[in-house]
Amino acid sequence: MSLEFNHETLGQRVLFGTGAAAANLASEVARLGASKTMVIASEFEEAMAREVAAGIDVALWHSEVVMHVPIEVAERARKAAADAQIDLLVCVGGGSTTGLAKAIAMTTGIPIIAVPTTYAGSEATNVWGLTEADRKTTGVDGKVLPATVIYDAQLTLSLPVDLSVASGLNGMAHCIDSMWGPRADPINQALAAEGIRALSQGLPAIVADPQGLEGREQALYGAYLSAVAFASAGSGMHHKICHVLGGTFNLPHAQTHATVLPYVLAFNAPAAPEAAARIASAFGTGDALQGLQRLRQQVSAPKALADYGFTEAGIAQAVEIALPLIPQNNPRSATEQNLAELLSAALIGSDPAALAAQTLKG
Ligand code: NAD
Repeated sequence: MSLEFNHETLGQRVLFGTGAAAANLASEVARLGASKTMVIASEFEEAMAREVAAGIDVALWHSEVVMHVPIEVAERARKAAADAQIDLLVCVGGGSTTGLAKAIAMTTGIPIIAVPTTYAGSEATNVWGLTEADRKTTGVDGKVLPATVIYDAQLTLSLPVDLSVASGLNGMAHCIDSMWGPRADPINQALAAEGIRALSQGLPAIVADPQGLEGREQALYGAYLSAVAFASAGSGMHHKICHVLGGTFNLPHAQTHATVLPYVLAFNAPAAPEAAARIASAFGTGDALQGLQRLRQQVSAPKALADYGFTEAGIAQAVEIALPLIPQNNPRSATEQNLAELLSAALIGSDPAALAAQTLKG
């Protein structure tokens, strides 16, 4: 078979070093020549951010961070940045914090240095997300891609084990969706496969030893790869479904991804044998779904959307919004009926293998 593809690699500096965040941030702020830095960190993340920012002059601290970036929260942060004549944004925190920095960069072009403290991966993508009137909108804009990412596994030690697992499986979802995203190509698939390998080693190590750095480093490395792959491949079926669940039903991001992932994998894998074989081999197993389920069992992954506030009453609306968003190139066509079945299974946490069997039937 001939090999032909168009691939775009995003330009970004990545500094990865445990215990080195403060020193790396100071040298990056100097290198970028900024004079008025705004540090964004939620109240919960602020103590950590103050340590990371110990070596820089901070013109403005901003702590109003809300998951899925409601538009009014973005507007207030944009105004605060403009009023203080900010020329550099530093975000220290999870994907919600990075998301707010992106919302400011989107309208101002101010560069971002991202210091992520979860495995969400937003720091390595040019994707922004905003929520307005209960609808989450996402888009792509080069201005929101952080100029520099500073990874320090030490900053993730405080992330509780259950959130680490959910967040790491959010990274895993980037990898798996990258196998069939609208712009999937051999480069992003190779990155995704290495991301699956790193996350599947890192997450059980975190569960076994939450204060150990090795698992945390593997998970961060995997999270970065997963996001690079995802930014290149584009949002596939899994992300479209989860964005609706997050934006319209306000379900928690990482846990929603962690819960829905096996159902999308079961739905698509039989119709995408090459991708499924790559995923299986990255897990070191013969079957993609078995590999994911083995990992999920090892780390006691989230199981049912009902545990996060989703109810049967929401399925029809979720299907109505998500169905038109699912990419045309998805390996298996989504219909009102099969999408409702997928969500019904994820709602109660039933065995995803049943969906795979349906895919095989046609
Ligand atoms: P989050 O940023 O909301 O963080 C979850 C919770 O963990 C928060 O309470 C936060 O304060 C806390 N926390 C963060 N780091 C911690 C640490 N080291 N120790 C202890 N607590 C910590 O959640 P998230 O899952 O990281 O990010 C979700 C958001 O990111 C969503 O809005 C999602 O849409 C967005 N996202 C965007 C992209 C993209 O490419 N644009 C990719 C992934 C996620």
